[in-house]
Amino acid sequence: MLGLILTVLLGAAQASLSAPASQRLVEASLREGRAFEALTELCHVAPHRLAGSAGLTRAEDWAVAWLRDRGLENVRKEPVRVPRWVRGPARLAVASPASAQGTYLPLLALGGSVATPPAGLRAPLVIVTSFEELRGLGERARGTIVLFNRPMDPTLADPFAAYGAAVEQRSRGAVEAARAGAVAALVRSMTLALDDHPHTGALRYEPDVPRIPAAAISTRAAARLVEAARGGARLELELQLECRDEGEVEAHNVIAEITGRERPGEIVVVGGHLDAWDVGQGAHDDGAGCVQAMETLRLVHSLGLRPRRTLRCVLWTNEENGLRGAVAYKDAHESELAGHVLAIESDRGGFAPRGFETNATGAAFQTLEGIVRQLAPYGAAFLRPGSGGADTGPLERAGTNVMQFVPDAARYFDYHHCGRDTLDAVHPRELALSAGVIAALAWSVAELELPLARPELPAAGSR
Ligand SMILES: [Zn+2]
Repeated sequence: MLGLILTVLLGAAQASLSAPASQRLVEASLREGRAFEALTELCHVAPHRLAGSAGLTRAEDWAVAWLRDRGLENVRKEPVRVPRWVRGPARLAVASPASAQGTYLPLLALGGSVATPPAGLRAPLVIVTSFEELRGLGERARGTIVLFNRPMDPTLADPFAAYGAAVEQRSRGAVEAARAGAVAALVRSMTLALDDHPHTGALRYEPDVPRIPAAAISTRAAARLVEAARGGARLELELQLECRDEGEVEAHNVIAEITGRERPGEIVVVGGHLDAWDVGQGAHDDGAGCVQAMETLRLVHSLGLRPRRTLRCVLWTNEENGLRGAVAYKDAHESELAGHVLAIESDRGGFAPRGFETNATGAAFQTLEGIVRQLAPYGAAFLRPGSGGADTGPLERAGTNVMQFVPDAARYFDYHHCGRDTLDAVHPRELALSAGVIAALAWSVAELELPLARPELPAAGSR
């Protein structure tokens, strides 16, 4: 009996050793993965790690130590100048009519917003759902606080498409409101959830347009204001924001490698962004992507594997409010760009795998599709044409193959950029499965006989 058990156990061990390395990587991640443990550490050490903050520096130091302690190679920090913007207290209240005073209006200043005057400002509210509607108000918008209240479209199957169609209200709302003569801008939070968690995010000012303060309010707060204004009631709001710009400071991209055994100058990048907003813990956005990339190298190393090409983990900085890390990486590695075979980013949360998206074309696309097909048993069922993440954008524009991990992100925008993006929103097994799938994909590309052909760029002007 014992002999039979031993034979069965040995047989299972041999089967596992003879399994393709990609399969062994996913199974090792499920069995003894360290991604969730690493994410727990990161969320504890540096829950708030906006560019230029002490939290971001702690996150960099933690990542460097983690990667070195796991025996990875060429662990280093590469300098990047980043903006430093600091949030202060924020307050929004209905000043009149008296019947609406005390309405609960949770808010977060948008990243990069200027402050209000110290005593705050008071102005009538107008509510619009588009920039066209605002322009149509003409002089009636002058001196007001504008609320942009177009919801993310719940009828779109892909929440990222709904986000893409609504987010201009956050990024450009302050400029459009200022052009209309408004004194401040509010935006309905970018989420499909109906709750009282405001979601921050970056705004952009333009050179010749006055800089007015801007904040996001919760979706329920937006609903309360709509209700209070029903029937044409004139509302006056009081807004007080104390945020400020503090120039630029030095931050870093964090890099680690496993040097390729045959073609060390050919590189497969896998990464996420280490910075996160200063609310919540940046667990999904993008702590998950960082630990998936770190875990990719650790898993390969721990199985005693060395890929044909170099595997490089890149933790970009300042994705949220500047993308300076992505640009600095491309500039610092200009001489190696022709050797970048693929750059994979994970920045859609630490949820269970669904597939991948890539700008690769032709035979390269087919090769990648064949690799992804092997991952279908683990839930990564498709490769679709598209692009990489925000941080791989500069590489993509330089002609590199890029890819992004596509998880089941139905709930991603419940957590994105808000106080709910904490460790308990990430499921340990979903994170382990996704880390294993990303490791398997990165390994398989690093191990290909032939490098991937570079993508055929669309004709100039169509991008
Ligand atoms: Zn992100």
